[in-house]
Amino acid sequence: HNSGIGGWPARRAMMTPDRTAFVYEDRSLTYAEVHERVTRLAHRLRDSGVRAGDRVVYLGPNHVAFAETMFATHMLGGIFVPLNFRLAAPEIDYMLGHSGAKVLIHAPQCAGVVEALTGTPALEQIIPLETCESWLAQGDRTELAPIDVPVAQDDIALILYTSGTTGRPKGATLSHANLIWNTCNMLIGVDVAGDETTLVSAPLFHVAALNQTLLPTFLKGGRSVIMPSWDVDACYDLIEKHGVTWMFGVTTMFAAFAGSPRWAGADLSSLRTLMSGGAAIPPALIRTYQERGLVFCQGYGMTETAPGATFLEASQSVRKVGSAGVPVFFADVRVVRPDLSDAPPGEPGEVLIQGPNVTPGYWDDAGATAAAFAEGGWFRSGDVAYRDEEGHLYIVDRVKDMYISGGENVYPAEVEAVLFEHPAVAEAAVVGVADATWGETGRAFVVVRPGHEVTGEELRAFLLTRLAKYKIPRYVTFVEDLPKTGSGKIQKLKLRDLPVPSPS
Ligand code: ATP
Ligand code: MG
Repeated sequence: HNSGIGGWPARRAMMTPDRTAFVYEDRSLTYAEVHERVTRLAHRLRDSGVRAGDRVVYLGPNHVAFAETMFATHMLGGIFVPLNFRLAAPEIDYMLGHSGAKVLIHAPQCAGVVEALTGTPALEQIIPLETCESWLAQGDRTELAPIDVPVAQDDIALILYTSGTTGRPKGATLSHANLIWNTCNMLIGVDVAGDETTLVSAPLFHVAALNQTLLPTFLKGGRSVIMPSWDVDACYDLIEKHGVTWMFGVTTMFAAFAGSPRWAGADLSSLRTLMSGGAAIPPALIRTYQERGLVFCQGYGMTETAPGATFLEASQSVRKVGSAGVPVFFADVRVVRPDLSDAPPGEPGEVLIQGPNVTPGYWDDAGATAAAFAEGGWFRSGDVAYRDEEGHLYIVDRVKDMYISGGENVYPAEVEAVLFEHPAVAEAAVVGVADATWGETGRAFVVVRPGHEVTGEELRAFLLTRLAKYKIPRYVTFVEDLPKTGSGKIQKLKLRDLPVPSPS
């Protein structure tokens, strides 16, 4: 019996065969069609040597083939390993080697980079998606026979590489149980419904698009509209064309969406819920959406927690704007001091998480796994947050991003949120840099909104009206854009390394 998510297409095909499961490239597939295609694909993958526990890598932009390959792998008890298709060949080689991948399936767009791979000893097959398509076109009836590989909920379903915001991406494993519980937490928190039209706008190789949008929508029998890659105009087009009801995005996506010339005139009336997560989001940006009458919720989590750890429910989203909410239904969250005792309300501390959504550990990295868990099995997030008197969490920043200026802790996210309130600021990132006088000081990188002009001194003066002096960055550097990870997060690591201008 397959008690993992590889059993989901069969269940859905029985319950709601005629309902649309996926919309992509002007095409759509019903649940019955998806089940048929996934079963055929699983037969062929088994013929290609895929067995329970084998790692199957998927390399390609968002496409229905991503979901089909994943479910087919899970039907066979395999482990699905989606990679960021924008990585360079040596980075992909590293992940192929680290995960011990047996099969690599890739989209046509990735043929060039696949050609540049050196390959790894375990890698037996490279399968272009065109081959999968021809299998699906030629298949016969025997390939519709159910595949009966036993899969337990504790079996590993995914190896997901973390965003790589703070260093080399880590291969977090997630079991089927982790995915099932996270999906339940999402259904409870966001109220994803059977008539949902979900826009899958974030990249599927990242935990959020897959686990917060595609899987919950599939479980409920809703419709996932798959966008090949993030693009503001395409996002408006798809919302208006399909009547999108719910979508997840990271901060940079929501900033670009609200900054578009189409913002004022677009018909967004179909949207029931928007959810941000993955990075700090300035309350001013959330208010921009709420002032338009849209429901905007914030979630907090990480790859290692599948990812939902906390969620701000719609009914609280205006009253608690800026908060990442309360622990998801089936997980516990603590905020602790360095000695791991609980921090009282208002005091920032590290966030710890425990629950059925938490990873069993990093793939082939016992050292990192041991370091990630505190006593009692609590996962250490590496993030700083505080709770208010009602238990709502406010994410302050990453422990690693904090810097100390003149003995005072500065959390760059707080400074960025104020910068964002300035009308000329489109995007901002603050990092700590060495300073002879204060030990460290801030350096702000700012992208100016088109049609606006502002100087560093004006921005520093603006900050000084709202923040303590030690928090004001000594340097302001204007840039055209900011370096981002595949999941759209700002890579401060790269900003920190840039040569600091001589003090003026
Ligand atoms: P890496 O672990 O490789 O450095 P990463 O931590 O960015 O990269 P993800 O698992 O994609 O990889 O992101 C999880 C992190 O994103 C969290 O630990 C936290 O720092 C940040 N994050 C998630 N949600 C929020 C939020 N609502 N507010 C602020 N930060 C958030
Ligand atoms: Mg991380």
